[in-house]
Amino acid sequence: NTGSIKVLLLEGISQKAVSIIESAGYQIETIARSLSEQELIEKIKDVHAIGIRSKTKLTKAVLEHAEKLIVIGCFCIGTNQVDLDFATEKGIAVFNSPFSNSRSVAELVIAEIIALSRKLGDNIKETSQGIWNKAAKNCHEIRGKVLGIIGYGHIGTQLSVIAESLGMRVIWYDVLPVMPLGTSRSVDSLNSLLEISDFVSIHVPETPDTINMIKEAQISRMKKGAMLINASRGTVVDIPALANALNSGHLGGAAVDVFPVEPFKNGKFFESELIGCPNTILTPHIGGSTEEAQSMIGVEVSNAVVNFINLGTSSNAVNFPECDLKALPITDIKTLRIVNIHQNVPGVLLQINSIIGKYNVTKQVSDSRGDVAYFMADITLDDSEAIDRIYKDIIGMSENIMTRVLF
Ligand code: NAD
Repeated sequence: NTGSIKVLLLEGISQKAVSIIESAGYQIETIARSLSEQELIEKIKDVHAIGIRSKTKLTKAVLEHAEKLIVIGCFCIGTNQVDLDFATEKGIAVFNSPFSNSRSVAELVIAEIIALSRKLGDNIKETSQGIWNKAAKNCHEIRGKVLGIIGYGHIGTQLSVIAESLGMRVIWYDVLPVMPLGTSRSVDSLNSLLEISDFVSIHVPETPDTINMIKEAQISRMKKGAMLINASRGTVVDIPALANALNSGHLGGAAVDVFPVEPFKNGKFFESELIGCPNTILTPHIGGSTEEAQSMIGVEVSNAVVNFINLGTSSNAVNFPECDLKALPITDIKTLRIVNIHQNVPGVLLQINSIIGKYNVTKQVSDSRGDVAYFMADITLDDSEAIDRIYKDIIGMSENIMTRVLF
């Protein structure tokens, strides 16, 4: 009964998301701010789903009180505000939206390429201070210039397409074989990319291999006067090495949106060796911060939450094995879907199948991830009283974490 599902949406989650969840028929409470731990402990007791952004901390202490919670929607990119291990242990699925803001990041980088090429940052600063400094020296069109993209994933490929449409020549380097878009081409090493590019834009994730991947040795390979852009993760570039290269004039400029240490809240808290470097544009991690991206995040996460509640679909969950049985073709009480999360130990599937095996199992799927496994099956029954029996037998298994029966 969807009307009995209670959803708590915090932190001003987009109206699009609220509409999608509303149209699923659930009861919704929206609160525009994040809640304190104590407030969350009170509120979470009663809800089946919670939607948060980055400020709400779903700690173990909070989740311990989540008696009915089955799903957490993180309407943002990161999920480190949630105790994922404990959520998984409790059988609570967590969803986020890692790629909805790719276009926004790519557009910011395009703006920065042009801004760096025309020294817009320094020009705007000087003119706003009453200094008239008209000059063409070292200012360029971007048409025909080489853009080197490190990491040809969601953002790198978007950037590639837009940059080519502006007349740039695009090369890229990735550790995976990826299909080049347009007339872009891959190069076989990072060093080749650094040596050829007029602009280098970094779009890799933070991994042990990418931490400090651009430091003094790599920067010195770049052409004199080339520009570096980092809107990926702050740890990927060695900041002191970048500041040196800018101050010495080896690099012609840089745009940096992400930093090894970023302030937790807005205000005058930001410090960096890059402040005051020539032709250097610093932005407060705004690559993905657009209303369009927020709206797409709203659509993606709310659909994932609704599909998980109604159908058990765990595709793209951050902490769950991924299972999908497609639509539930249910027309009467005799057809039901069992959704079960259990400890990933031998013998559980055998137990479940011995419970449901005497009925007509029309479909089933299972997958495991780390310590947990997920199982879904569609069953048709002649005997509607069997539903209770099946449910009780499955939750009676010592390895059961959470079981739901969907009609
Ligand atoms: P993605 O996973 O789609 O693409 C990353 C690509 O980098 C992949 O193709 C991968 O194979 C490649 N890669 C990984 N290690 C590499 C290495 N050592 N050398 C070369 N290539 C490597 O990720 P995405 O969505 O394009 O995001 C890229 C980065 O942008 C991430 O760090 C993400 O956190 C960051 N990001 C920043 C903002 C922002 O606001 N500035 C917003 C969204 C994403």
